[in-house]
Amino acid sequence: MSSMSSKLKETRSLKDLQTLVSLSKRRGFVFQSSEIYGGLNSCWDYGPLGSQMKLNIKKAWWQAMTRRQDIVGLDAAILMHPTVWKASGHIDGFSDPLVDCKDCKTRFRSDNTDSYLQFKKCPQCGSHNLSEPRHFNLMFKTHMGPVEDEGSVVYLRPETAQGHYVNFLNCQTTSRNKIPFGIAAIGKSFRNEITPGNFVFRTREFEQMEMQYFVKPGSDELWFEKWKELRFEFYSKYGFKATHLRAHPMVQES
Ligand SMILES: [Zn+2]
Repeated sequence: MSSMSSKLKETRSLKDLQTLVSLSKRRGFVFQSSEIYGGLNSCWDYGPLGSQMKLNIKKAWWQAMTRRQDIVGLDAAILMHPTVWKASGHIDGFSDPLVDCKDCKTRFRSDNTDSYLQFKKCPQCGSHNLSEPRHFNLMFKTHMGPVEDEGSVVYLRPETAQGHYVNFLNCQTTSRNKIPFGIAAIGKSFRNEITPGNFVFRTREFEQMEMQYFVKPGSDELWFEKWKELRFEFYSKYGFKATHLRAHPMVQES
């Protein structure tokens, strides 16, 4: 036991991501989805140990969140009324600007590709023979029911948060909570990313753990700092080093 814990304390840095991918497979944590048919890009299956580990993480998070008077749980459906995504701005604004190279057929994002931003060049072959940037919505679209027409379009949710908003009143009245209070959820979300990758760290189908905390206007900074502290404590408790944790300020995208 003591040798095991001293081993765990050793700091080893990873050579490359492929080492982690191979190890995860060999030990039964993560397998490539549909591997026997050549694999499905950016989709991963959690194996015997991986599925258990994932469950443990979810359980720890769920308990930290919902074993409090001021937070309730929610398990909303993945498919929601399409008006939800219209109201949230996802139908009109949840998109990446994409450019096609007419020579090598590479498709890339125009807003984060250096060769394009600086020289209007294809990052793959250097060609200037490019399409104009076009907006590509990141939501997975499908049809509900037997008829595939415009009226039957539904989306796989790109985030769990909208379930919190549309159920805000249901949750508040049934739990008899007053602001400040929160709603927590764990569930699958889907984003049709043009550049997924980096193993399980950027995938098109993923599981989210999200808690929205609703506060009185004006007290948001206070609550934000309090929650930041609580979340850092949570990760430290489960062995994350303080130096490996950082709060990332989100900037408003134009
Ligand atoms: Zn090209």
